[in-house]
Amino acid sequence: MGEAYYLGIEAGGTHLRIAAVERTLKVCSFKKIRSEELSDAGDKAAYLESLMVPYFREMGRENCRCVCLSLASLMDRDRTVCFNSPNIRGFDNLPLKSLLEEQIHIPVEMERDANTELLYEIRRLNLPREGIVAGVYIGTGLGNAVCIDGRAYRGATGSACELGHIPVAGLTEDCGCGKKGCIELKASGRNLQRIAEDLHCPVGEVFIRYAEDEKVQEFITMTALAIATEVTILDPVCVVLGGGVVGMPGFPLKTLTERVKENLRVPDPRASFKLELSSGDPEAGVVGAVINAVTLGR
Ligand SMILES: [Zn+2]
Repeated sequence: MGEAYYLGIEAGGTHLRIAAVERTLKVCSFKKIRSEELSDAGDKAAYLESLMVPYFREMGRENCRCVCLSLASLMDRDRTVCFNSPNIRGFDNLPLKSLLEEQIHIPVEMERDANTELLYEIRRLNLPREGIVAGVYIGTGLGNAVCIDGRAYRGATGSACELGHIPVAGLTEDCGCGKKGCIELKASGRNLQRIAEDLHCPVGEVFIRYAEDEKVQEFITMTALAIATEVTILDPVCVVLGGGVVGMPGFPLKTLTERVKENLRVPDPRASFKLELSSGDPEAGVVGAVINAVTLGR
């Protein structure tokens, strides 16, 4: 009889990552593949099982305590149904938890990717378990997560922490969520891409070549306002900042931090405002999904 382990799977728009994770959170046999096959698969549960079979063979199906999923998806409060995943086909209103449990006869827990990443970072940064930690992820959109006393906050219906979709007076454009005037119309990589196209500049160089451009400055201000709003409401221990845009050359971290602070009250939370950068570790999603399952008693 072998050691008990968890299987962590993170499915994003481009890549799918899978690994066996021990209870100590040691990662074994980490694999990264393209997620197209998951998009193409007619039977999502059967496809996911085919990825798990090599692990079952090597480490024993009976030793797998739980399959832990991290998904870029809106979900119900109980984390049983994916309402939609904008970057993976065939995930609309998919009762993935029950489909997969019927397929593999092993417990399944799933969680939003922003939440699993934040759970991973809280552990990596050794942040206190008590209190609130907020995660803000500037990627294509503006992602968000809040952990309270070491647990991902889901809200009454499961739709909490949609910071990118807070309304902004004066913005009238349509947002991908179906509303108008959401803050991520400005505070997102999608907007930066648009700004770069208007400037005929590769998006990766926009902070270096056009730091003073009015629209780049507006991006920074809107992102700062979103973060300051969250900090004003929650007074978190710390904000973890991540996402692809933060890793771009010349990302204006200092200006952003100053602009967040300008919008916070004195003395606190302005004086106590603390920002940590997300690690970008490739295994963050799979390990975070396992941490989530463990906090749920798996
Ligand atoms: Zn929106």
